[in-house]
Amino acid sequence: MTEIKLVFDEPVQRKKAPKHLADLAPADRKAWATELGFPGYRANQVATHYFSHLAHDPNTWTDIPADSRQALADALTPSLIKLVRTVTCDNGMTRKDLWKLHDGVLVESVLMRYTDRTTVCISSQAGCGMNCPFCATGQAGLTRNLSAGEITEQIVAAARTCANGELPGGPTRLSNIVFMGMGEPLANYNAVARTLRNITDENPNGLGISARSVTVSTVGLVNGIEKLMAEDLNVTLAISLHTPDDELRDSLVPINSRYKVREVLAAADDYEKKTGRRYSIEYALIRDINDQAWRADLLGRLLKNRNAHVNLIPLNPTPGSKWTASRHEDELEFVRVLESYGVPTTVRDTRGREIDGACGQLAAAELAKAD
Ligand code: SAH
Repeated sequence: MTEIKLVFDEPVQRKKAPKHLADLAPADRKAWATELGFPGYRANQVATHYFSHLAHDPNTWTDIPADSRQALADALTPSLIKLVRTVTCDNGMTRKDLWKLHDGVLVESVLMRYTDRTTVCISSQAGCGMNCPFCATGQAGLTRNLSAGEITEQIVAAARTCANGELPGGPTRLSNIVFMGMGEPLANYNAVARTLRNITDENPNGLGISARSVTVSTVGLVNGIEKLMAEDLNVTLAISLHTPDDELRDSLVPINSRYKVREVLAAADDYEKKTGRRYSIEYALIRDINDQAWRADLLGRLLKNRNAHVNLIPLNPTPGSKWTASRHEDELEFVRVLESYGVPTTVRDTRGREIDGACGQLAAAELAKAD
């Protein structure tokens, strides 16, 4: 029980991340600029360069006097994430970036270009306190929450990579954002909510990306789902269920001892009713652990009258884990049973496998190298 309690404790902010324009609501940005001794309207100009033009070099900010550009950039848009390493696969269409934060903490993001969209998977915390035993990030525990600026910077960096034509296929637009990197987004609620506004607010207040292209993935923190519902944001919700029964879920997703399967699904249903957004059920298929046909049957019964779709993820084994992905025939049977209940089911493609694509694996490898 002590461990579960720890999960809810605010992580120690050893040294706060430098404040950034993206930490604040648009209305507060102007006041902050004034407080720092700049004319208030400069906040809007800098926001335009940051969110609309994705221009991080202040030398290009030609509507601002040359002698104050650098000072404004240092004050309002300090660089919060520094690229340590990039690894690519799928002929460059998948790219994973490892970032160092101001205090040396490492986080990662993954950018994936498909024919019809480009998606970035971002981290909301350094580490994670949810302690799911199959997840690489869960093993090391929570280091700290990221600030809204630190989360937003990952997205803006991805948008720049797309716009600059750094991915094969030429310049494109970042279209989708998924909170499926390191961390539990709803355990860092305020910073995540601010980031969601930075994503969806129109230029120049934000990136102007449609809420329907944003997915927040959660272990099922019911209080967080309720708060998110009240935001009127209409982003897509994904619930990491991983098994339909409380008995197994208590160990696969330890927070289940606090929020049971039924409560989590009821909160997701409320969210769906309020927003009209079908939600996803994430289910990592683990050989002989949660991939039995009877569990598919139980899941089918649970979901058949719900507006949800199931996203099966072949387990990406973490180093040293005794668990592995399901046999192909078990995966097929699992899909067949769910479909027999009319539950829409997809098996997630395993992009990024070769580059330690599973959550937390690149940062873990980098830390191991440093040891
Ligand atoms: N904390 C959030 C976001 C985490 S990562 C959440 O739990 O939803 C996004 C998804 O990847 C989650 O569904 C998570 O359970 C899953 N995942 C983590 N480690 C995995 C692994 N080794 N193999 C397959 N899926 C994994």
